[in-house]
Parts: sequence; C-alpha cells; structure tokens
Amino acid sequence: RDQAIEQLLTGLDPEQREAVTAPPGPVCILAGAGTGKTRAVTHRIAWRVLRGDMRGQHVTAVTFTARAAGEMRDRLRGLGVAGVNARTFHSAALRQLRYFGTRRFGGQLPELVDSTLKFTAIAAARAGLQTSRAKNFDLTTEIEWAASSLIGPDDYVSAIAALGRDAPAAPEDVAKVYAAYIEAKRRAGVMDFADVLAYTADLITDHAATADQIRSQYRFFVVDEYQDVTPLQQRLLDAWVGDRDDITVVGDASQTIYSFTGASSRNLLDFTRRYRNASLVRLVRDYRSTPQVVGLANQIIGESKGREAKMRLELIGQRPDGPAVTAEVFADEAEEADMIARRCAKFIADGLSPSEIAVLYRTNAQSQAYEEALASYGVPTVITGAARFFDRPEVRQAVVALRSAAKTEIGAMPLSEAVPAALEAVGWRPDAAPSGGAQREAYEAVAAIAALSEQFLEHHRANPDEEGPDPDLEAFCAELSRRAAEQHAPAVEGVTLASLHAAKGLEWDAVFLVGLADGTLPTTFARTETALEEERRLLYVGITRARERLQLSYGLARNAGGRERRLCRFLAPLGLGGFPRPTDPGAAAPKPRERRKAKVLDCSGCGKPLTDARDRKLGHCDDCPATMDEGLFERLREWRVSVAKQDGKPAFTVFTDVT
Ligand code: ATP
Ligand code: MG
Repeated sequence: RDQAIEQLLTGLDPEQREAVTAPPGPVCILAGAGTGKTRAVTHRIAWRVLRGDMRGQHVTAVTFTARAAGEMRDRLRGLGVAGVNARTFHSAALRQLRYFGTRRFGGQLPELVDSTLKFTAIAAARAGLQTSRAKNFDLTTEIEWAASSLIGPDDYVSAIAALGRDAPAAPEDVAKVYAAYIEAKRRAGVMDFADVLAYTADLITDHAATADQIRSQYRFFVVDEYQDVTPLQQRLLDAWVGDRDDITVVGDASQTIYSFTGASSRNLLDFTRRYRNASLVRLVRDYRSTPQVVGLANQIIGESKGREAKMRLELIGQRPDGPAVTAEVFADEAEEADMIARRCAKFIADGLSPSEIAVLYRTNAQSQAYEEALASYGVPTVITGAARFFDRPEVRQAVVALRSAAKTEIGAMPLSEAVPAALEAVGWRPDAAPSGGAQREAYEAVAAIAALSEQFLEHHRANPDEEGPDPDLEAFCAELSRRAAEQHAPAVEGVTLASLHAAKGLEWDAVFLVGLADGTLPTTFARTETALEEERRLLYVGITRARERLQLSYGLARNAGGRERRLCRFLAPLGLGGFPRPTDPGAAAPKPRERRKAKVLDCSGCGKPLTDARDRKLGHCDDCPATMDEGLFERLREWRVSVAKQDGKPAFTVFTDVT
C-alpha cells in the first residue's frame, strides 16, 4: 500500500502534489484548462483513502456531467479506490431524495419530469398570457434561471431590477407565470430538476435525523468545475457540509460558461473569503495540449475582460510540438459537415480510435448535419446532450417489453436468452438489422439494451463474491430503471458530437470546432458585453479540449444560396492561415454555393449517370472498380465488424445526456 501511495505522487508536479497532500480542510485549486485540476482532486481523494484517512464511501465528488463523473470513477478505480460517490449534483441529490424523501412526501415522491414546457404553457394560460411555443420556451428558461438563483416568484420583480436583467416578458407577468408554474407542478404531482436539489437541501435542513445520517455518511466533499455552480447547488452543498469544512473545490474562472443558469465565478472568490484558512493552489502548466493549441487558447483568453479576466492565468504548454492548428472555410454548412465527416473517416482509417475524435458546436441544432454526414461514411457517433437515450420511444418500448416478460416464463430463462426472447415482442431480432434510416437507429438503440445485458452479466461474473449468482431478467430490469433514472446511457466507441457546453472537462486527440461563424459563435442572442465575454470563454473551452489536432472551420453560408457570413469575431483578428484575412474579408474564401437541384453525378468508371443513392456516395456504379473512397468505406465497415466482435460492443449511435 505504501508503494501505491508513493506512486500517487510521482505523476504530479510540485503544485499538484501540494493540492493532493494538503491536510483535511478547505482547499481551493484555481487553474486554467488542462493543468491537471481534475487529476489533482482525483489523486487527493485516492491519497486520503489509501492512507486510511477515510473510506471511498465517505467521499462525495460532484462533477458537471454524468460523463465526467464516470471518468472520475474510472480514474479512481485505476488508482485502486472504489465506492466514491462521484456524481452530478442532480444524480447525487436524486439518490438521497429517493432514499430519504419518503419522510417529506409521505411515501410517494413526485414524478420527475425533464420537460417542463408543458407546465409553463399551462401556467401562462392560467396567468392569462397569450404565448407562443417560443415564448413559453423563453419563460421556461427564465423560471429555471430564477429557481437556480434562489429567486422565488415573490422576489422575482425586485431581483431582476436589482440585477439589471432583461426579462423575456413584462417582469410582473413572468412572476405570475412563475407562481402558476409552481402550482401546476404541485397539482400534477411532479417535480422538475431544480426541485430535486431544493427538496434534498430542505430535507437536510428540516430533518435533523436525516442530516445526521447523510453527514455521517459523507465526510469529505470535492467539487469539480466550481466556477459553474449555481446558488441552488451551493445551497445543497452547504446542507451537505454543515458546519464542517473538509471540502476541496476546483475551478477556472476563464471557463465560466453557465452564467445563464445563475452560476457565477464569484463562487471562487467567495470560497477563500468564506474559509479564511483555505489552502489556495494555482496550477499553470498545461499537460493536455500541444504548444500550438495552448498558444491559440492563450491568445483568445488574453483578450477577455471582466471579473473572470482578473483571475486569468496564462497557460504554459508542457507537451512537445504537434501539428499546426488548421483553419478552413467551406461554401456552406452541408459542405463543412461532409468534409469534416470525411476527415474523421480518414483519421479512423489511419488508426485513430473514434473515441479520440470530437466534433464540437455551439448549439445542439448543429448536430444533425454531422450525425448524418458521419453515418454516410459509416462512422459511429456518440451524441452528448441530445435526446436522452432512455427517453427514445423504441427504448421505452423495449424496457416495457422486458419488464412484462420478466413476469412470464421468459423471466426464468438465463439472462442471455431471456433478453432476446423478450425483445422479440417489439419485433427486434439480433440478426435482422434494417439497412438505414430511422429504423436502423431504432434497431441500434434496442441493440444497445441487448449489449448492456451482456455487460451486466459479465460484470456479475467478474465480481462473483460481491454480486452473487447470475442475475436474471428481473435484476436486469432493476438495473435499467436505475440507469434510466440517472440517464446513464450505455457506453460505446464513437466520434463524440457535443455542444461546447457539454464538452467541458473532457479531452480528445482530435477536435473539430465547427460552425465558427459570427452569429453562431458568438450567438446572435449574445447582445451585451457580458454575454459576449461568455461566448469568448466558450471558444476557449472548445480550443482547450484538443490534445493534438485542432481544426477550426465554418461554412460561409448557412445553406446553399444563403447569405454570406463572417468569421467568428474572436478569431478574425488573429489572421489564421486558411481563414479570411482581417483586412480583406472573404477574399481568399470560397463563395457560397448556388442553390441547385440534386447534383447530377456520373460514374467515375464508365461515365454513366448515377441514380442509386449509395452509388452516388461512392462515386461509381456497381459494375465499375472501387475508388479510393470505396476502400475507405470498406475499411470502416471491417473496423465496425471487428469492434463488434472483439468487445461484444456494436458500433452505433448512442445518446447520452449532460446532467
Ligand atoms: P479542464 O480545465 O479542461 O477540466 P483540468 O485542469 O481538469 O482541465 P485534467 O483533465 O486533470 O485537467 O488534465 C489534463 C490532462 O493532462 C489529462 O490527460 C491528465 O492526465 C494530464 N496531466 C495532468 N497532470 C499531469 C502531470 N503532472 N503529468 C502528466 N500529465 C498530466
Ligand atoms: Mg477538469
């Protein structure tokens, strides 16, 4: 064990070591992207557990996304530490609420709803407001902001006046809708995401016995990405910690990108004010990215202004030189998506694992073009922050089918036979994959459930002492319910498609930052200086996700024949080769494509026009020899098959969620 403890420190620099070995008590790690903040806190947890200070079960570590929490658990397992409660605020709170919440709700928890738009609509109608879907959406966002900022309907009007905040409607009307919204949820017996946090915090503050139980279970707290913690999350954190102070927070003011939820980098300043005895550690060495990437990141953030800029620390790259950052302009977004999908396919054919590639964009609406383009090259994708896996209709149907089969004779069969047998009820057969389109997606989503049952079984077989005999269908259904509650989608290898917000804390060898046109990044909705600064920080977050390769791009027009757009204003002054020069906008760039009917394509072999969609993609007809692209296509197909065989993991699209 001593050796394991010593080894923990060898992979760290002196400042990281200081953070890891600081005595129990408040610690604040303040540092830029890629400097090893997450690594330092993970090692701090391991250090304390391995030294016998406490058990893994005594630690609560909150991270921003389910994916980041999963990575932290993996890293800890790698260091020989198990049982740490590494979760998002939401998932940690939900667990406690499920366990202790019956006291508050007399046996029945309100049902958790993730789409509250319906309740805003009801509330608006009740408040006598004429609204559209778009308006309801804005109102929902505003209500969510208010709830995360601990502003109730009664304080709303005065609070936004004091903050100088623009309301999406007359403030008095927003307050009315907000009050009616709370009432509508109450009547329907449901709770939203903010309620989960608020109810859990109430539970601890109002019930001394629950507080004692929770606090004796959790003794050491870690918060990653502390700069983006909302006042509501802080309230829950305060309830957890109580009057103790064994808490380590990690943050980077330059990565504050969730202000719209009520989060603020003030947390970082307040922490050291609140805990006067806090150890403060700063890290500046960047271990993630090549000097080329670090240089660009420093340039972007070097121009930032405001409170966050005052806490800025210039990054010092530690890695050897890598390829230059590339910049490219395409005629329009479709061409951009196609070319980037092609590059991804090429990287994979050259040996890069798809899970080492990410395409990052400003809004989730941009994902579809990439999903389709990558699928057309046979590249599997993992989508973060899109439709939730467990909310897909076909997945819901499959889960229902499994649950009802568990009560029949199928339930008595071994799990590996019971799952396919039960899924036949929804018309799913392992060997009958539809060739493409929505049906294929539905098939693959169900296949993910089937694959999950195999992993579940393997996990039990690998840990026989802990887990008992082979689990049955009923046990698997319980596992599915647990995962669905936590939106913990099955993991697969694929190119990550994610919004910049969802990419926080993560890293990939190759990153494509796409759609870098003014109006998209920064979004047209960013009208104030403060909002624009947050957009700049988003770009900084995106750039700093890349380890080796970074490619920046945008489509000149949104659609073929559309209006010409300008390069993202934060990049324009840098004069990156490949992008239009600052003095001469658009000169070297291609012109937007003319709007036209589907292109007539001829076979590259015999010259005959191609009518079949697949032939058009390949560029030649069935009778003519394969072109280079065809070879690529085939290699990818083989790769997919071999992955499916080796790991029992099918290659397909899976949706995961941010929270
Ligand atoms: P972000 O701000 O993006 O969340 P971070 O500060 O949390 O970044 P980490 O993710 O912990 O940074 O580390 C970035 C990368 O650098 C990881 O791949 C990590 O393993 C590596 N790294 C961190 N510290 C060291 C070190 N001392 N030596 C070698 N590699 C390191
Ligand atoms: Mg991190």
